[in-house]
Formats: sequence, structure tokens, C-alpha cells
Amino acid sequence: MTLPRHVTHLVVGAGFAGVGTAIKLAEDGETDVAVIEQGSDVGGTWRDNTYPGACCDIPSQLYSFSFAPNPEWSSSYSPQPEIQAYVQKVARDAGILDRCHFQTPMTDARWDDDAQLWRVRTPSGELTATTLTSCTGGLSAPKLPDIEGIDSFAGALFHSARWDHDADLEGKRIAVIGTGASAIQIVPEMAKVAGHLDVYQRSAPWVIPRNDRVYSRPERWALRHLPALGKLYRTGIYWAHEGYVPAFTWQPRLAAPAEKAALANLHKGIKDPALRAKVTPHFRLGCKRVLRSNTYYPALAADVTDLVTEPIAKITAHAIVTTDGVEHPVDVIVVATGFHTTDLPIASRIVGRDGRSLSQVWDETGMAAYKGTTVHGFPNLFLMVGPNTGQGHTSMIFVIESQIAYLRDAIRTMRARGVAELEPRADAQRRWNSDLQKRMRRTVWSTGGCSSWYLDDHGRNTTLWPKATFTFRRLLASFDPEAYDVRPARAAGSDAVEGVPA
Ligand code: NAP
Repeated sequence: MTLPRHVTHLVVGAGFAGVGTAIKLAEDGETDVAVIEQGSDVGGTWRDNTYPGACCDIPSQLYSFSFAPNPEWSSSYSPQPEIQAYVQKVARDAGILDRCHFQTPMTDARWDDDAQLWRVRTPSGELTATTLTSCTGGLSAPKLPDIEGIDSFAGALFHSARWDHDADLEGKRIAVIGTGASAIQIVPEMAKVAGHLDVYQRSAPWVIPRNDRVYSRPERWALRHLPALGKLYRTGIYWAHEGYVPAFTWQPRLAAPAEKAALANLHKGIKDPALRAKVTPHFRLGCKRVLRSNTYYPALAADVTDLVTEPIAKITAHAIVTTDGVEHPVDVIVVATGFHTTDLPIASRIVGRDGRSLSQVWDETGMAAYKGTTVHGFPNLFLMVGPNTGQGHTSMIFVIESQIAYLRDAIRTMRARGVAELEPRADAQRRWNSDLQKRMRRTVWSTGGCSSWYLDDHGRNTTLWPKATFTFRRLLASFDPEAYDVRPARAAGSDAVEGVPA
């Protein structure tokens, strides 16, 4: 499919956010939309993370679009293939696949102030767009650890988000580096096939039980035929998860009961006191993402597994060497060390009004946006899952839908008022972020005694939302033109939102 030369709305990325955005714009009659996607399918992170055991740790009834309930989830926490199939089906049923240009990464996007539009380059050609909505996600660029000798390893070495399905694992000596949300799903699967498994832990995470349940046929029948029941169920899950907000954002001591449950989970899974001591967390629950698993601790306790807490000094052709000088021979290394979260690669490819890229601006200020969605100096740019929109406790789909509502209302405003350009005012953006950072001081992410991917190099939390998600939804429910510089088309013919009178 050839790229159009101009579109009114260009969406970058076809994960949950990109698919949802394209669907909702179409519902508003905004049909001049193109989605460019670097991969060969929709799904985003759920297309890319195909590691054994990949599963969502937020219940599927909530981790799905409110406008596309799925009564067919097989269990409360769905595995990756089901989630990927769900995104594919939603995109297909809504008829937006014919707007998607796959294997079309955005090389760069530059705001043209005279023409009042975005000039976008891709390897498949160039196009212009009135609005640019980045839906590339905060967890899409794998981060490899900076370990001496990592390139000299002779066996298979791959990141959790780029699983090498050709790698032979059966009976091999496998190492998993990292003990985050991805690793704790991978480790139990590796323990089943490895000849020997080493798990390299830098800090012990909090792991609470995952009360997974396969849905019975009558339950699935009820969800299929009684949509109101599905809605009620979803609402119940939403509020149960929102219950974490006071402990995370206001009074971390409120997490004590959850810490107790996590320690009980640990005692149940691991009997050896020495191993227990090693995996007991040394920070408050919630400071890093709370992990859910019933199988991680038993896998660590299995005969086949060693937990290595000595830091890694280097990697050689056939071994990982720890700082105590011990050589750990290994055939396959799984690197589950997370993602670029506060230095998003997409930010260096978006260049604003004054010729500076988002990453150049953010290098000075830290990641910042207005309402997590728009950025001063970058007219008509919308960031889905932008700065300070992340969640440690609930479904990102709820946040994405809140942002889509804001985007839709912004576009309606552009049409209604004949506006060619929207740009958040610097003072509005400053106020928004100073309020957020003030709120951030008392959160568990600041006071909980850990370092995490939530924080940038200056220790600022530019990733998470420090209030309830219903507050986020309320604040983004309607577009607020008073916080924006709103400009009409400068020249006849430059009315970039098609149909808007100049
Ligand atoms: P992560 O949470 O950032 O965990 C990375 C792990 O690697 C941490 O244990 C970290 O140790 C360790 N690490 C990093 N650099 C290292 C180094 N140089 N040497 C040794 N260890 C190193 O990454 P992730 O597990 O991929 O998860 C990222 C996010 O993705 C999650 O927080 C979550 O939001 C999302 N996710 C969600 C699901 C889900 O079910 N919904 C599943 C997977 C991932 P430290 O802890 O000491 O830094």
C-alpha cells in the first residue's frame, strides 16, 4: 500500500493506543487517517513480547478496550497470544487495517511552521500531516545492559522482548539477567526446560500471588449474553486495583497488608531460609512495579535453579563472571533488563517549531508534557502514553482511552473554530508539571527506598501518574483551549485540518 502524500491525521504505532486512536477518529468521521507501524502487524508490545510465559499481570476484563469487551478470555490473566489476537480482531472488525502501513517506521517528523503541518519521512516515502499522534509506547525500545564483553558471548543471547524462538533451550545452561515483570514470567518456564538455570538478581522484587482462574463455560456464556454483567465485573476489577492508589501516592504504610501477603507468598514458595533472605525485598512495596506470580518462587527454589546475587563483572565467550571471580558457564543468556523509558528513541525523531527535537528539549527539562499529551513547542503533536501517564497498579488501556477522548475533543475544537494549530502554552505546561512533581514527593516511588525505571537520571519521576486514574480521566475529559495558543491558518490553502475554513 503506498503512502498518501498528505493526511489530516497521522498515527505512529499500531499497538493498543494506535489502534484505539484510529478507531475513535473514524467514529468521529475523521476518515483521512493513516497509521504507520514499524512492525508487520498490529499489537505493539503484545506483538513483540513473545517470550515463554508472557502474560498480562492486569486482569483481561480491565486490560481491554471498554468499547470492545471480549467475553472469550480464557482466564482472568490472559496469555500474550490471546491479547495479540484480541488487538488484531478489534482492528479488523473496526475496519482500520486498510489504514495501516506496516514496516514503515517514522524516520523523523519536523514541524513546518510556514505550512503549519508535520513533514514526516519514512523509508517508504515522505508525507505531510496536520496532526501527529505518537502511539509508540513507553516500553517498546529494549534496553541491553552495559556489561563488559557482552558482544563476545558465543552462545545465543537475546532480550526478553526479542525472543529467539530458534534458540535450543532443552537441557541447556540458561542464564536470566534481571528479576522484573518480564523475568518473573520467564524464569518458571526456563526452569522447566533448562539443564541448569542461573537467575541474576540485582534487587529482589515484591511478588504477590496471582490469583489466576480459568473461566468456566457458564461464566463465559454469562459474559457473552449478559453484557451488563461484564461491565459490572470490569468495574469491580477497576475499583479493586484503584485501591492501591492511596498507598502508592499518599501513605506508603498503607501497603503493609499487601507486603504481608507478599511475604506469605514468599514463605510458601521458598523453604530454604538462606534463599528466602536473598529474595526478601529491601524497599517498600510499590516503589518498583509489584509483580504477580504463583510460580516464580517455586522456580527459584527448584533444584535446577541458582539465584546469583553477586553482581556481574563481565561476560566471556562461554560464561558469566561475577565480581567474586566465579565463572558461571552458560549456553543461552536471556536479557530481561527492561526498556528505554525516560530516554524514548522516538523523542529524538520529532523536531518542533524551533528546530529542536523532543529529546533535546527533554534533556534540559526531563520528560514533560501538558496533561501527558501535548508539548509546548510542538504544535498539533499528541503523545499517547506520554510523560507521567504510566501506572504501576492498573490498566494502561484506561489511560489510553482517557487520552483518546482528549485528542478527539481537541480535533472537534479545531474543526469548530477553524483552527490550524494548537500548542499548549508554556505556563500551562509548567504549572501542570510543577503540581505533578510536588505530588510526587510523597509517593512511594520517591520515598520507598529503591531506584526504578520510573525515575530519570536526575531522580525525577517523569513516567508515572501520581493520583487516581479517575482524576486523570476527569482532567482529560474535555479539551481546554484556554491552556493553548490556538492559531488560524496563516495562508489560504494551508488549512491543514481538511474542511476547516481558513
Ligand atoms: P524492568 O522492570 O525494568 O526489570 C529489569 C530487571 O533487570 C530488573 O530486575 C533490573 O534490576 C535488572 N537489570 C537491569 N539492568 C541490569 C544490569 N545491568 N545487570 C543486572 N540486572 C539488571 O523490565 P521488565 O521486566 O521488562 O518490565 C518492564 C515493564 O514492562 C514492567 O515494569 C511493566 O510495566 C511492563 N511489563 C508488564 C507485564 C505485564 O504482565 N503487564 C509483563 C512484563 C513487563 P533492578 O531491579 O535492580 O533495577
